[in-house]
Amino acid sequence: MSLALYNTLTRAVEPFQALAPPRVTLYTCGPTVWNFAHLGNFRTFLFEDLLRRYLEYSGYDVFHIMNLTDVDDRTIKAAAAAGTSLAAHTAPFTQAFFEDRDYLRIRPAHLYPRATQEVPAMIALVERLLAKGVAYRGEDGSVYFAIEKFPTYGRLSRLDRRELKVGARVASDEYAKDDPRDFALWKKATPDDDAVGAAWDAPFGRGRPGWHLECSAMSLQAISERFGVETLDIHAGGVDLIFPHHEDEIAQSEVATGRPFARWWLHGEFLNVRGTKMSKRFGNFLTARDLRDQGVDAAAVRLLCWQSHYRQPIDFTDTALEGAREGVKRLGEFHARLRAAAAGVDPAEGGGPLALQARALEHDVAAALDDDLSAPRALAALFEFVRAANRELDRGAGGGGGGALAALERVVGLLDILPTLAAVDPGLARWVEERLAAREGARKSRDFAAADRIRAELKSRGVELEDTAAGTKWRLL
Ligand SMILES: [Zn+2]
Repeated sequence: MSLALYNTLTRAVEPFQALAPPRVTLYTCGPTVWNFAHLGNFRTFLFEDLLRRYLEYSGYDVFHIMNLTDVDDRTIKAAAAAGTSLAAHTAPFTQAFFEDRDYLRIRPAHLYPRATQEVPAMIALVERLLAKGVAYRGEDGSVYFAIEKFPTYGRLSRLDRRELKVGARVASDEYAKDDPRDFALWKKATPDDDAVGAAWDAPFGRGRPGWHLECSAMSLQAISERFGVETLDIHAGGVDLIFPHHEDEIAQSEVATGRPFARWWLHGEFLNVRGTKMSKRFGNFLTARDLRDQGVDAAAVRLLCWQSHYRQPIDFTDTALEGAREGVKRLGEFHARLRAAAAGVDPAEGGGPLALQARALEHDVAAALDDDLSAPRALAALFEFVRAANRELDRGAGGGGGGALAALERVVGLLDILPTLAAVDPGLARWVEERLAAREGARKSRDFAAADRIRAELKSRGVELEDTAAGTKWRLL
């Protein structure tokens, strides 16, 4: 089996084929840096992180571009409200975005073009569209895209099935759903724009780019400069971007280049914040840094996201987070146990039930992720492996531990859900296993006082023991 992904353009799961393998160009719509990105934004970025990691795991050479929207209606309004310039207002939120990305262990994109730094490319794109006769200058001084000149407008969002009312215009970046009016490519500068430093000179008048234009210009510039192509392999974002943002990106880009803009369109569903203590404090605007400040392990946030398919909404609740935290802890303890069991064992040594289980794990995880990135199925396979391998370790079967550890680490590297805490430090795990062996020796020689001392010593380091018929189990408190 090989990778298949749901393409919003065709509303079908299709076998993935890169345009020029092994290269995959991936463009993901980035944050608007008017404020802190909320957790819903990060759910989208996490789904894109899994997509990127799995493409790389599958042998693709991914070039990932994520834009930073540092000029649009919202950033200008926020800068004006704060009484500062656009650049001064957006800089700390850009920095905060990178910090939050690192906290959530999201792999950095290869390129982060900032809209305000790429205005020449946007002006050039408007000129191309004016030259082709699909853009026109309105009497208000802004430049608009005439959607009646692009007959396939609405293909992505399936607007063609509804009644089109063309001819009206909208200057705002965001407009009512299903309202297919001519959209602004370039907005004539207002005194407010100039006051915050959000206006540029262009042959068609002083103004600023529309949000939709920014993504088209920056993505096309990035891939044409580097690879000499004008079609992306994959364009991804949240479902809320399908219309109008992505529809408008397609219209502008395809008219300008005469080529398909992106072969694959992937969209992640929403994350709803409900019933969390934090949302009571912060409203539904929960940010990654709220979680970090509360000491929430990023691994738990990631695991919570993987529990739902990216095309299904997530309810982010305290209960769900607690469940994810437990899962991460269990995984961390198992990882430490397996590391201890594999220590000193030749990793090339391939026999034993553990090695067989590990091969099944890698097979099942790949099959799950090949199927439109089914992270819930991948997680189920991972925790089934943890249960089965724990049983083998309980029986004292360490054969194949080296190979099992390597397989586990490859899978965990994809999902990146091992606990951040030093609690499962491998040094600690080795020490625990060594103390357990000493305790076992003491018990065998009927020195129960010594065995009890070791149990107390372990407890003082936060390690709890449970003696079962299958042997002694331990866990971190
Ligand atoms: Zn975009």
